Formats: sequence, C-alpha cells, structure tokens
Amino acid sequence: MSDDKKVIYLDNAATTRTKPEVVEAMLPFFTEYYGNPSSVYDFSGISKKAVSDARQILASSIGAKPQEIYFTAGGSESDNWAIKAAAEAYQKKGRHIITSKIEHHAVLHTCQYLERQGFEVTYLDVDENGVIKLEELKRAIRPDTILISIMFANNEIGTMEPIKEIGQLAKEHQILFHTDAVQAYAHVPIDVDECHIDMLSASGHKLSGPKGIGFLYIRTGVKILSFIHGGAQERKRRAGTENVPGIVGLGKAAELAMATLKERAEKEKGLRDRLIRRVLSEVPYTRLNGHPTDRLPNNADFAFQFIEGESLLIMLDMAGICGSSGSACTSGSLDPSHVLLAIGLPHEIAHGSLRLTLSEETTMEEIDYVVGEIKRIVERLRSMSPLYEDFVKQGR
Ligand SMILES: *Cc1c(COP(=O)(O)O)cnc(C)c1O
Repeated sequence: MSDDKKVIYLDNAATTRTKPEVVEAMLPFFTEYYGNPSSVYDFSGISKKAVSDARQILASSIGAKPQEIYFTAGGSESDNWAIKAAAEAYQKKGRHIITSKIEHHAVLHTCQYLERQGFEVTYLDVDENGVIKLEELKRAIRPDTILISIMFANNEIGTMEPIKEIGQLAKEHQILFHTDAVQAYAHVPIDVDECHIDMLSASGHKLSGPKGIGFLYIRTGVKILSFIHGGAQERKRRAGTENVPGIVGLGKAAELAMATLKERAEKEKGLRDRLIRRVLSEVPYTRLNGHPTDRLPNNADFAFQFIEGESLLIMLDMAGICGSSGSACTSGSLDPSHVLLAIGLPHEIAHGSLRLTLSEETTMEEIDYVVGEIKRIVERLRSMSPLYEDFVKQGR
C-alpha cells in the first residue's frame, strides 16, 4: 500500500494501534532502565517497581488483588495455561470440562488437546444470537466437572455472554470458572468478584497496548500449576525474565483504557449503531450477526447473501478499508467460521460475512465512506454472481 493512501482501520478485534503514550512509557525500559527485576542492586529496583505498579493497575481494573495477576505472553498463553493447568491440578476430582462452540481457537484447540489426553469436553450450543443457554449449561454439569470456560464476549460476532449467571452456577457447584475476556477487557466493565470469575485471560494488543504481553488472573486459593518451569518469577508459576517494557506498556494501556472506558464505549456505540443501521437499511439481503444489543460496543458483523466475504475484503482493501471476514483459510479451502455455523447460518450465507470493529479514533466520516463503499462493492459483486441472477429471475 502506498504511503499517501489513508487507511481506514476497522479491524480492532484483530489488533489495535499501540497508543503513542504507551510506547513512550515503554521506551525507557529498553534503553535506560534495562535491569532485571530479579537482581538485587538498586538499579534493577526501578524495573521491579515498574512491574509491580503495572500489576497493581491491572488488579484494580478488575477488582482483584495484585498477587492474583500473572503476566503472560498474551491471550493464547493465558487461555492455554488456565485450561491445561486447571485440568492437571483438578483431575483427581474429575476429568470433565464445559466450554462453548464459539470460543476462540486458543480455548477450543486446548480443549481438543485435553480430549486426546483422556479428558471429556462438552461444547455448549449457542442460540441464534450467539448466547449460551443457561439451562443447557445446568444440564451439562456433572459431579466430575472441574472447569467451565466461557468467553466474556465473542471476538467475531461481538455477543456478550451471561457471565454473572455462569459464574453463579459454577460457584454453586464448586466448579472453577475461567473466562477468555480478551475482547471484553478494558472495553466493558469487569468485576471478578461480582461475576465469580476464578480465572480471566486478557491481552495487551486488544486494548491499544503492545503485542506479546497479556495476563491471567488467578483467584487466590485456586490450585493451579506452573506453566513455564524455570526461575521463581510470577510467584513460581510462570518462569522467565519479565517482559518489562511489555508489562509497562500493558499497565499504561489499561490505565488509559479504564479512565476513558465509559465515554469510549458511548462514542463507539454511536458510530457502530449508525454503521449497522445504514448497512441493514441500504444494502438488501443483509443480516447482522450476533446479539442486536448485548454486544461489544465496537463490533458490527454482517452477512451479505450471494457474495464471498473474501472478495468483499479484497475490494474493501482496494478502497483503503481494513476489515475481516469470518472465513478461515483451512488447508486451501475457505471454510466458514465455526462461530457463524454455531449460530445457525447456512454455509452459503456464512461465506459472505464481514466483521468491522471500531476504535475510539474512528470517525463518522469514515463510517459514512465505508457504508458507501460496501453498497457499491456488494452491488458490483452481486451483479457478477450467477446465484444472485437466478434469485432475481425467480423473484420476478
Ligand atoms: C485475540 C484473541 C485471543 C488471542 O490473544 P493473543 O494475545 O493474540 O494470543 C484469544 N481470545 C480472544 C477472544 C481473542 O480475541
């Protein structure tokens, strides 16, 4: 892409721009204060304090204690750790895990791995909006269930899950409750006590922080084993010299995000709703995927009949617009996403999906330009589609 072409970035669920203030906060920890937090001299005390300050900020952002925050290399590691280590630590009690069909692959593939190790996993269905059914969850609970892992909000369709009710159920049955909050953290308010969350995954690069850093909240009293063996870092549960600049960046990003959470969500919701309203009313044969209201403030996910999401993405890219589609390129064939299939979309409709995720930097002008481009491109693609032609002929 040429330098002078302005990019309209609407793929903030994939990753976000690291804020300049965050980068600025990180820089001295590469060049000036590069000491190892584990060393004894005064100089490294600066790094150590920076790590502990960040831990404090993260803890207070979810109503936790600092010693319950463990730094990781991001959301995938946090999910892997929570699920594998809990399974291992609690396997004497039982070997049954409950999750949902719409989890991120970091959760789904970890559960599949555990199935190969002899664990049993129940994958809960979701309704047409992507919400798990509490009744089905209740029925799935068994005496040997040791863990429930359900995401706070879905990364593709933006649907928020009934986390408080799930936490309540888990607590009543004395089952551990893990939530992948990578999309929700610092975008919607979260209180681990109120929702009875035992473990929570978050990732820096989904909240305008750096990539390759995240955290796992582990409630005091949860028996969980070390994930990376080695030194005594992270209370002997996650060895390795701390990613100090990353941790400082994550702390700064969380501090900024928490301070603006409400206004940011309001602003994003306003633009998101304008986007949804205009697309649904101006582009025929289109649906909104995910819950109409209980969804992430910055997420709009559409399915356009008679077109391929990939073609739409490429043409949007040519118009300077970054979005994403629900298709995942698996072994050369374009399979529709497991999330869209789980909400009951037929294959041919699930193929024509487009996810647009906003940031606080998104403007109304951008949204209006994007709607115009979607209209133009969808019309163009449909005009080349034999399926659409047949459909139109039949209609007459
Ligand atoms: C992005 C994402 C992850 C993975 O996080 P990384 O930091 O990229 O490893 C996990 N779960 C959800 C819901 C995500 O959106």
